[in-house]
Amino acid sequence: MSRTVYVNGAFVPEEEARVSVFDRGFLFADAIYEVTAVVDGKICEWEGHIARLERSLREIGMGMPMSAEELLEVHRELVKHNDLEEGAIYLQVSRGAIDRDFVMPEGLEQTVVLFTQAKKLTGEKSGLRVISVPDIRWGRRDIKTVQLLAASMVKTEAKKQGKDDAWMVEEGFVTEGSSNNTYIVTKEGKIITRNLSNSILPGITRKSVLRLADELKLEIEERPFTVEEAKEAVEAFMTAATSFVTPVIEIDGVKLGDGTPGPVSRRLSEVYIEESRKASC
Ligand code: PMP
Repeated sequence: MSRTVYVNGAFVPEEEARVSVFDRGFLFADAIYEVTAVVDGKICEWEGHIARLERSLREIGMGMPMSAEELLEVHRELVKHNDLEEGAIYLQVSRGAIDRDFVMPEGLEQTVVLFTQAKKLTGEKSGLRVISVPDIRWGRRDIKTVQLLAASMVKTEAKKQGKDDAWMVEEGFVTEGSSNNTYIVTKEGKIITRNLSNSILPGITRKSVLRLADELKLEIEERPFTVEEAKEAVEAFMTAATSFVTPVIEIDGVKLGDGTPGPVSRRLSEVYIEESRKASC
């Protein structure tokens, strides 16, 4: 059975879904997206995702295509149409379709697309092996735009090298993973993660994980860290909406700690899933 997707107000079979070749999301990556996890048929971290969507749209001069309440309803309808128990909902809002021109048009009807991806998200995770690569992305990584070519290239390179992901590095410091925020844990048990700025995406999972780590009385330092520091860490992990907290066990061939997922990562992973389930809607 084919998926039901949402396109501009209609729920249609994926084979029938159409977007114009003149869509600015397609031609200019002039579009914003969000990916939200679904667990037990419910939507996780809704408040965070909707707030970031609104901010990203505003930063590129767009408004919300509909109210937050209406968007939540579309998410819920889509979950129902697709009997989604666990997985992700992808949402994309582009500026709309118009003859190709670099100047951003005003008042266009936005293109709104949503689809689901069924995927097992919960359960024990094996640790990831990552490589470090130069961060070649643009200067506004805090905006969640669909220009994901660099991220896609570095992740593909990691896979080619038989690894799982790439950590991007700028001026010696790790910015973030190809599609996740990154953390290391020092010998003293301190969690270090890069502070928010235009250099990284303000992860919704990051925000909750830092709150939970604080509640668990873990020490946190928000600052840039180098690849060398990461290689000396006793453990590391990454966070993202559909992978929650995932341990990292190797960087550039160097094993972290004993080369297995560390206790801080495993604890945060458990607590995050528990809390996420409770707060889903
Ligand atoms: N950084 C980047 C570059 C990402 O693509 C993502 C995932 N979209 C994240 C961080 C993590 O953000 P979130 O926890 O909101 O999924």
